[in-house]
Amino acid sequence: MQFWVIAVIDSETKLLCLLGNPVAHSKSPLLHNALIKRHNLNLVYLMFRTSNLDEALSGLKAINFLGANITIPYKSEAMKFLDRIDGDGKACGAINTVLNKKGKLYGFNTDVYGIRKSLNVRKRKVLVMGAGGAARAACLALKDNEVVVVNRNYSRACRLEKDFCCRAEPFKNLGAIMKKSDVVVNATPVGMFPHCDASLIPKRLFEKNHVVFDMVYNPVKTKLVRDAESCGARTISGIEMFLHQATKSFEIWTGIMPEIESARKVIV
Ligand code: NAP
Repeated sequence: MQFWVIAVIDSETKLLCLLGNPVAHSKSPLLHNALIKRHNLNLVYLMFRTSNLDEALSGLKAINFLGANITIPYKSEAMKFLDRIDGDGKACGAINTVLNKKGKLYGFNTDVYGIRKSLNVRKRKVLVMGAGGAARAACLALKDNEVVVVNRNYSRACRLEKDFCCRAEPFKNLGAIMKKSDVVVNATPVGMFPHCDASLIPKRLFEKNHVVFDMVYNPVKTKLVRDAESCGARTISGIEMFLHQATKSFEIWTGIMPEIESARKVIV
């Protein structure tokens, strides 16, 4: 993703960034730089693809970055390099936001908040696909539901069964689980740019009473969402979660909670 950032850089400019691998799909730099400009702050948001999170975080500390977002695949690994972690981060074993305060790194999980804001369901049967950081956030945010986790690597799904009040099932049972589910959550990168024609669920398995939430937000309408919509299911784009988690991170770094609808206009 390419866009112009017109910013005045001086010795007081503070830096924010995204750390992950890959990062090319991300709209975080676009959104955060627009919010920075709107609120007239002396900040710039960059993105770095890294294969060494430990050194990347030490580097941020050494040059006094204000903070960072952590994305795929580092949300759980990041925990061990931080000085303190917030309640949701501890409870789900993954963080996505780092604040550097006087040389100490504080970790937060704003994904849990983003999911709660996007998908308000209780006492429903929920299928979560994936067992990484985003799936862990889903299990925590949806703990008032009956959650079944399926994942390519079954033993990783079993770890979620141990850590949260949910049930792990092998992928081969997907058809039967779909029949019993009210809500379907994709917490894997399948369908994400540039592999936009991929989906983990065959179209024939969707029913019109399903609520389908895809955390992938680039493209805004993934194949999973398009297939579900064409079967009459209600769908929620990952853009909703993206906006809520991103504005919450912005508040952690700056003390300013941006207005959600004006943030939406930047990225949709
Ligand atoms: P992660 O920690 O790397 O976990 C990825 C998960 O996806 C793992 O369970 C992995 O299975 C599974 N997976 C990966 N490739 C797969 C494939 N080809 N087929 C089947 N399963 C596959 O990543 P994450 O941080 O949880 O993020 C997952 C997705 O959620 C990403 O696309 C991310 O952009 C999105 N997300 C969106 C938002 C938002 O604001 N909308 C926020 C957070 C995350 P294995 O265990 O078998 O490897």
